[in-house]
Amino acid sequence: VTKMWIDLHIHTIYSDGNLTPDQVIAKAEKAGLSAIAFADHDSVDALNNYLKPSPIEIVPCAELSAREGGKSVHILGYFMDHNDNNLKQFIEIQRKARLSRGEEIVKKLNGLGLNITMDEVRKKVEGSVVGRPHIARVLLEKGIVEKLGDAFSLYLGNDKSCYVPNPDKKVREIVNIIKGAGGIPVLAHPIFLGDDELISRFIDEGIEGIEVWYPQSRDRDIEKYLEIARKRDLVVTGGSDSHGTLKPYPSIGDFKVAYQAFSDCSMLKLKSFPLIH
Ligand code: AMP
Ligand code: FE
Ligand code: FE
Ligand code: ZN
Repeated sequence: VTKMWIDLHIHTIYSDGNLTPDQVIAKAEKAGLSAIAFADHDSVDALNNYLKPSPIEIVPCAELSAREGGKSVHILGYFMDHNDNNLKQFIEIQRKARLSRGEEIVKKLNGLGLNITMDEVRKKVEGSVVGRPHIARVLLEKGIVEKLGDAFSLYLGNDKSCYVPNPDKKVREIVNIIKGAGGIPVLAHPIFLGDDELISRFIDEGIEGIEVWYPQSRDRDIEKYLEIARKRDLVVTGGSDSHGTLKPYPSIGDFKVAYQAFSDCSMLKLKSFPLIH
C-alpha cells in the first residue's frame, strides 16, 4: 500500500487564509496529499464555492468558535451537512458578531491614533468572517506594523489593549449544533488549552474527537492525546492549520498526517464517508 498523506485543517480566503479553495487543492495535490479538509472559522463557504470534481478527497469541515471562562475553544465539525438550518443560523449570528467586534477593534486602534477604517478591513474579507488577521493585514499594508506578527504582539493579541473577544459560546452549544448537522465535534489544537482537565470536561460535554497531530504537538503531547482518545473512545485527527502564505504556520504540504492514522482510528467509526469527489 502506498503511503498516503492528509491534512484535515486548512483555512481558505473564506475565513482568514489567503488561498482560494482551488489554490489549496492545487497545492495539496502537488504536495502529494490524498485528502484535505477546508476548516474555515465559522464558515462553510469554501464548500459552497468549490463545486467541481476534485482530484483529491475533500472532507467537509468548519472550525466553530466557542469561548468558555475567558478561553477561546475551537471545535472542528467534520462531515456536517453544510445546509443544516441551525448551522446556517449559528454562522449568521457569528458573522454579525464578528462584524461588530471588528468595528470595536478598529475603534480601539483609532483611539491609539492608528489610522485605519472598517472599510479597509472589509476589503480584506472575502467571505463572511471578519477576523483579527484581516485587521492585521491592513496594519501591515499601511506600514503601521512591520510584520504581521507585530500586529498581534503589539495590538491584537489576547492580552493586548485592542483585543476584543469573540462572544461567549458554550462548548456544549457548539457540540449540539455540530451533532445536529450530522457532524463529529473534534477539539482543535488541545495544546493551546494548556489544561488537561478542560479537555476531559469538554469530552463529558459531547466532544467526540481530538486533534492529535498538529504542528506544535511534540511527541509526548501526541502520546498523551492518543491515550486520552483510547480511554475516552475518541476519533483522532490532525492537520496543519495552514492559513496560506501569510502566517508563520506551515504551508500546505509542510505538515502532513499519515492517512493510516485517519483510516485506522477515525474512519472505522464513521458510518458514512460522504466525500466530495
Ligand atoms: P479571531 O478568530 O478573529 O480571534 O482570530 C484568530 C486568528 O488569528 C487565529 O485563527 C489565527 O489565524 C490568527 N492569529 C492569532 N494569533 C496570531 C499571531 N500571534 N500571529 C499571527 N496570527 C495569529
Ligand atoms: Fe485563523
Ligand atoms: Fe483554531
Ligand atoms: Zn484553524
